Amino acid sequence: MGGVLVFSENSRVSFELLNKAAEIARAGGSTVSLALPGKEPAESFLKRGAQKVYIPRAGQEALQDFEAGAYAEALAQIAQAAGASLILLGCTRRGKELAGRLAQKLAAGCINDAIDLEVKDGRVVCRRYALGGMTVMTQEIGTAAAVVSVMPRAFDPAPEGEAAGEVVEIDLEIKPSRVRLVERQSKAADSTDISEAEVLVCVGKGMEHREDLPLAEELAGMLGGEVACSKPVATDQKWLSEDRIVGLSGKKCKPQLAICLGISGQVQFNVGIRDARTLVAVNSDPNAYIFQISDYGIVGDLHEVVPRIISGLKK
Ligand SMILES: Cc1cc2nc3c(=O)[nH]c(=O)nc-3n(C[C@H](O)[C@H](O)[C@H](O)COP(=O)(O)OP(=O)(O)OC[C@H]3O[C@@H](n4cnc5c(N)ncnc54)[C@H](O)[C@@H]3O)c2cc1C
Repeated sequence: MGGVLVFSENSRVSFELLNKAAEIARAGGSTVSLALPGKEPAESFLKRGAQKVYIPRAGQEALQDFEAGAYAEALAQIAQAAGASLILLGCTRRGKELAGRLAQKLAAGCINDAIDLEVKDGRVVCRRYALGGMTVMTQEIGTAAAVVSVMPRAFDPAPEGEAAGEVVEIDLEIKPSRVRLVERQSKAADSTDISEAEVLVCVGKGMEHREDLPLAEELAGMLGGEVACSKPVATDQKWLSEDRIVGLSGKKCKPQLAICLGISGQVQFNVGIRDARTLVAVNSDPNAYIFQISDYGIVGDLHEVVPRIISGLKK
């Protein structure tokens, strides 16, 4: 197998991918490179196991704004220079678009949303959720080159150690894009990244009134955590920003403690929270699915249970 090339515009995700890349490279005797480090110094990636970090010497002006076509062109050239046959990308919105474009340039097989991967007999084998998160399917890439975008938090970040690799400056030839940026409008962004939180209080549709949201905020505040939610709370009720959705179309989280209030536990939510170290659910329905993945379950009305937890914590 050729080398493994890693890219994500998110540094933490790059560290996670480097961890997996190192494991694959160790087994296959190949090398691990990282492309386009962005704002993070190249040294950080060398310390996390990258043997080469590719930085553009010429051609970087085309990469100032993220435009998937230009990035795909750059990564294709870097993959060739690095002798990489497996390219790992972060499965972010940008990463997903990039994966398809890059695969097309490299005539490579492509899999998005991978939650794990390995190389078996020289072929890349990935696992990803299927049927809306109901099951996990295994897919294999049959082409010589493979592009895989991996869900954030699928792996732990590579541990920091001594930097042993080198920074490689590369001249890129990127044709001017046919896409022109006409206007930029900032999204009402939520600065909180729930996937980083150690404690999450997740609110579901069982919370009947928006006025009750401070209950969850107070509980989260007391525990040093953040408030997150099921999808309908953000998309239908619009009580919280979409950045706070846990699950298949939201974020995959791995907190030390998750408290789920009035959440039924549909599989699309559960895939985002089931890796919590300790999961506590409060639901008035004793048969709610959420109890099947919970460590502790409280059957009751959250509007009564949460104030009692808060007053217990205050004592
Ligand atoms: C392709 C696809 C992707 C999706 N992605 C996501 C995703 O990423 N994240 C996500 O969350 N959903 C996602 N969904 C939607 C998902 O299927 C569910 O509809 C959603 O998770 C349900 O949210 P909920 O549990 O808050 O609401 P409900 O399913 O309506 O559950 C409300 C729960 O509250 C309980 N309850 C009611 N009153 C009280 C009370 N007073 N006290 C305590 N408990 C009470 C009820 O017993 C019930 O269990 C997706 C769906 C599809 C098709």
